[in-house]
Amino acid sequence: MNIQNEPVPPLSPTERYAFFFDVDGTLAAIQSRPDEVFIPASILASLHQLVQLNEGAVALVSGRPMSELDALVSPLHLPLAGVHGAERRDASGHIERLSLPDEVAESISSLLREAIDAMPNTQLEIKGMAFALHYRRAEHFQKEILALAELMTKRFPMLTLQPGKCVVEIKPKGISKGSAIHAFMQQAPFAGRTPVFLGDDLTDEAAFKVVNIMEGLSIKIGEGPSEAAYRLPDVGAVGQWLEQILLQLDQGVATSGGSQGYESLSRRI
Ligand SMILES: [Mg+2]
Repeated sequence: MNIQNEPVPPLSPTERYAFFFDVDGTLAAIQSRPDEVFIPASILASLHQLVQLNEGAVALVSGRPMSELDALVSPLHLPLAGVHGAERRDASGHIERLSLPDEVAESISSLLREAIDAMPNTQLEIKGMAFALHYRRAEHFQKEILALAELMTKRFPMLTLQPGKCVVEIKPKGISKGSAIHAFMQQAPFAGRTPVFLGDDLTDEAAFKVVNIMEGLSIKIGEGPSEAAYRLPDVGAVGQWLEQILLQLDQGVATSGGSQGYESLSRRI
């Protein structure tokens, strides 16, 4: 695992890139409640520009449901992977969504609701096929929350744990942000490009691994051990990095319309 603060290298002018972003802790600062999270206007504007300059090869890959992701980047309408890859909307608008049998989902919901009600200031978030147990405002319940989640995965073997920052999630086995990025990379406009992924939490490690195998740029936001090759310290640094990327892409686009030969020639001279 890389724990160095490797600076992120500039984009290569001869490569085409596919950009994938986690949201919470990456494009948006973490707040005490998940419903208080927002993406700063400057980062939203940069994302919008990135979509235009990069032929639409920009997607969000998050633990949030896609409905929340759409609301967070509105009026942008991006390709999305939600709930850690359990749902995915590709660039053509086609949606794939994993679901649990109704009776399983109902039974887990009622068991969790009852247990969470006994732990003040913890919060249950039901995402359809996944369940998040938040304890940011009640960190002393961490052990109980983890034990509760483990109990559920033992009882329902089609589910697995996904720990995060002050949250433990229970999600279907076999899904990950890594498999979501892999799926995007098989399709237009992502196919044939070099993947770039930015994320801050444990769920992002699966995506870093996939991006590393594809020889892309894996970028961890913040501290902590990670498989990512590069690092940025916080959401503010992500905003600045995005602005640099836009400048580089803008220059690339300016020279790709038939004048590239002259441009590189004049550089050599
Ligand atoms: Mg995150």
